[in-house]
Amino acid sequence: MSVRILDGTKISAEIKAELAAEVQQLAKDGLRPGLAAVLVGNDPASEVYVRSKVKTCEQLGLYSEKITPPADISTDGLLAIIKDLNQRDEIHGILVQLPLPKHIDSKKILLAIDPAKDVDGFHPVNVGLLSTQQPGLVPCTPAGCIEILGRSGIKLEGSEAVVVGRSDIVGKPVAMLLTNANATVTICHSRTRDLREVCRRADILVAAIGRAAMITPDMVRPGATIIDVGINRITDPKTFESLYAGDQARAKQFAERGSTLCGDVHPRVADVAGAITPVPGGVGPLTIAMLMSNTVRAAKLRCRTRVVTAS
Ligand code: NDP
Repeated sequence: MSVRILDGTKISAEIKAELAAEVQQLAKDGLRPGLAAVLVGNDPASEVYVRSKVKTCEQLGLYSEKITPPADISTDGLLAIIKDLNQRDEIHGILVQLPLPKHIDSKKILLAIDPAKDVDGFHPVNVGLLSTQQPGLVPCTPAGCIEILGRSGIKLEGSEAVVVGRSDIVGKPVAMLLTNANATVTICHSRTRDLREVCRRADILVAAIGRAAMITPDMVRPGATIIDVGINRITDPKTFESLYAGDQARAKQFAERGSTLCGDVHPRVADVAGAITPVPGGVGPLTIAMLMSNTVRAAKLRCRTRVVTAS
């Protein structure tokens, strides 16, 4: 049986279409969700990410603002910007593009964001809300993984899920979301004994490691669902050939660009898995969609709080 490809680009487009309709509806009630993206300095990759977030806001009808302090801004200077954004009514979501320059105390900055506007879901208040199953803002990439599974009709309840990676931004929150959805979850990391055997137990395997093609076919139970969060750039022609020999479309792209994006899962895993997210075009496109979703959600929650406070 051939593997089912879980098309993140298509699912992301569905979510964005739903959000655009919701934003139109909210506009009738006089509410326009607004996102502020703070981009410190001129890191080219960060500039691309922020541009694409602002563009998606425009496409969906959200208000957006890009704030671009210079690379040498102090922690206190950046804190003052965050404080101002926390107080502004038309801003419902605040996004600080990471990584920040080394001299800035990133933890202090992220803690200063009002949890109700923390659309990245990294603030300890939102982490606590997630772990106690209360309404809050959930980190975008993990939320995207769950959307892919849910919208593809993959059953989570009672399933055996294995998450490889325990970072605060992907591994831990995705494991928490799977637990909340009644999966039985194992979290693996660099000290896990016999990773292969643990992975082979999985009905659902989430790879969030940051190592190209680390999950090989022998680590996968036949028919399992694979969510590949990893984004690794391959530039070495020998590595490319060993991973993608025979993939003509990718070879053409590699010849033109000199690189390709590879997940944490080996391409040959598609021969044993039941369903798999591709890289690119799997989890990646969901991250921005979920950021938009969080901004709309933050706006609605804020609006509701105001109505309750006023009455
Ligand atoms: P981190 O580096 O923060 O975490 C990696 C995790 O993988 C750690 O928990 C680490 O274990 C574990 N790990 C590393 N090596 C091994 C190993 N040999 N065996 C088992 N576990 C191992 O990465 P992130 O969570 O931030 O990101 C993971 C990947 O996801 C990256 O490729 C990143 O680019 C991608 N990503 C993609 C996004 C998207 O939009 N699609 C968004 C965010 C990230 P330990 O804790 O013991 O060190």
